[in-house]
Amino acid sequence: MDYGLNIWGLNNFFINNDKVFLNYANEPSLIEIIKEIESMGYEGPILLRFVHLIKKQINTLYSSFNRAIKEFDYQGRFQAVFPLKVNQFPSFIEPLSKIAPKYNYGLEAGSKAELILAMAYNSISAPITVNGFKDKEMIRMCFIASKIGYNITVTIEGINELYSIIEIAKEFGECLVNIGIRIRLHTGGTGIWAKSGGIESKFGLSATEIIEALDIMKKSDIIHKLTMIHFHIGSQINNIAPLKKALREAGNIYADLIKLGAKKLTAINIGGGLAIEYSQQHTTRDKNYSITEFANDVVFLLKEITTKKHVKMPDIFTESGRFIAAPSTVLITPIIELFSSEYTKNALKLKESNPPLINELHDLYMSLNDTNYIEYFHDALDHLESLLTLFDLGYIDLIDRSNAEVLVHLIIKKVIIFASQKGFKHSELKRINERIQEKYLANFSIFQSLPDFWGLAQRFPVMPITHLNKAPTRSATIWDITCDSDGEIEFNKDNPLYLHDVDLEREEYYLGFFLVGAYQEILGMRHNLFTYPNEATIEFDDDGNYHISNLSSTQTLNDILIDLDYDIEDIHRRLKNLIDEANINNEEKKELLGQILIHLNDTVYLKKDTK
Ligand SMILES: *Cc1c(COP(=O)(O)O)cnc(C)c1O
Repeated sequence: MDYGLNIWGLNNFFINNDKVFLNYANEPSLIEIIKEIESMGYEGPILLRFVHLIKKQINTLYSSFNRAIKEFDYQGRFQAVFPLKVNQFPSFIEPLSKIAPKYNYGLEAGSKAELILAMAYNSISAPITVNGFKDKEMIRMCFIASKIGYNITVTIEGINELYSIIEIAKEFGECLVNIGIRIRLHTGGTGIWAKSGGIESKFGLSATEIIEALDIMKKSDIIHKLTMIHFHIGSQINNIAPLKKALREAGNIYADLIKLGAKKLTAINIGGGLAIEYSQQHTTRDKNYSITEFANDVVFLLKEITTKKHVKMPDIFTESGRFIAAPSTVLITPIIELFSSEYTKNALKLKESNPPLINELHDLYMSLNDTNYIEYFHDALDHLESLLTLFDLGYIDLIDRSNAEVLVHLIIKKVIIFASQKGFKHSELKRINERIQEKYLANFSIFQSLPDFWGLAQRFPVMPITHLNKAPTRSATIWDITCDSDGEIEFNKDNPLYLHDVDLEREEYYLGFFLVGAYQEILGMRHNLFTYPNEATIEFDDDGNYHISNLSSTQTLNDILIDLDYDIEDIHRRLKNLIDEANINNEEKKELLGQILIHLNDTVYLKKDTK
């Protein structure tokens, strides 16, 4: 059982014997890294950021496009920028900014705060692109970036932004920035993020507006600043077909704009959307193309269209974010408790005289065998229904009801044994799996760490990082530690997750959530006041040994409350007053106050000894 690692794993990890290892350098296991971090006093969920995986994705992106450019004898260049909205955290952006110069990899900003980050962290010769809605202040900041020496392209989302640029250009004496036009395609995207493309899209200029913009630029004598057209059909493009349509549409707009006088138009920015395979099963793939096919299609189609229309082949810009960031980050969460509804025979409290249906259940249990097990299983479920009804009507008591539960579970267990001997084929077994789920309580918050699972039902690959030499036998539901019923990854019979039968009194069990480096951290919510997990950056030295840096702890209760703008002194005062007035002796008061202060300085996730 490899949890689909060969589907989503990108060769970044491998399983050997019982553990997951990094397929890099000296190949440490994930558990050994976690143990080392824990030994330094960190407990609870730990987010691991792997710098070599950021580098690998950047390299894959550039080498795929550069190979396609060579193969198709394409005349334009490939350029890429990282869209900051995908991950703005310093522990991601700082390593990225060290890798970027080698590729002349730039940054994309969609807000003023992101623009400041782009100005601070971009390599000076690499491009900056600016998208999203902009006021004059933001456009002024772009001009300043240009004064500093950046090659910056401001993509207009509407005609008004063009007027703002013209106004600011007067202030500065010339139009210092390159201008891009976001085009509104009639081609829509696909998948759950599809809203960024299409004729009803929130973004971009229609054909008529594009012509109008061109006229305005000609009149204001800034047409030589129009260098790029831009589109973005949505994130996680799962199907290559809409992208091809979008490329045809954009290619034709590009060629026609040049013919209409946009002589300096040299680039098509195809936005982001390059998908990541999150699926753990062959039958539910998230995308139907590879990066090779993606690059080939872009290069081939743009060559074909521009050749046909006799214009220069454009430079190709991409703003892929998810593809670059997702694989770099893994969240490891300890399982702190198992909630099973599994009973042994000892739990049976049969009476001298039992209700007839209980006796029948008992007979079913005793005489179940490998030929009648499906039939008896159905009978058992029927009897259970009837017994629960009898309980509601007051005909049987709580002891009878408990006996019914125990007997049905004992029957199901026997059924599983017979069924597994027959290869688990019967479709009824899906139903059984649903009935005997084990609930694994994981020390993390889905709202904080997997917000797209909560909001968009986006699945992330999950697997245990140890125990892999044993067969996982439990159909698993994962509970997080929030008290929200949405904080749950339910067992999905079409997409089952099986985990191991573990005794947490004697062994530890950790789950890894993979591919969580894109969007999740900044979208994460402080629901129930669980804030960000512990975090560590993992880098390798020239000898292949890993090093842990940027260790940061999850927040203390004090800090969480301060972040909510509470006056923490006031909270301390209130608690102290309550203790002062409590009906206990002074010794106890001192002791209690001391304990509360310790708790306030401690972190929010659960501790092992609270089991
Ligand atoms: C969000 C966004 C991106 C990044 O999309 P990914 O799917 O993460 O590659 C790129 N460009 C624009 C304009 C965006 O809004």
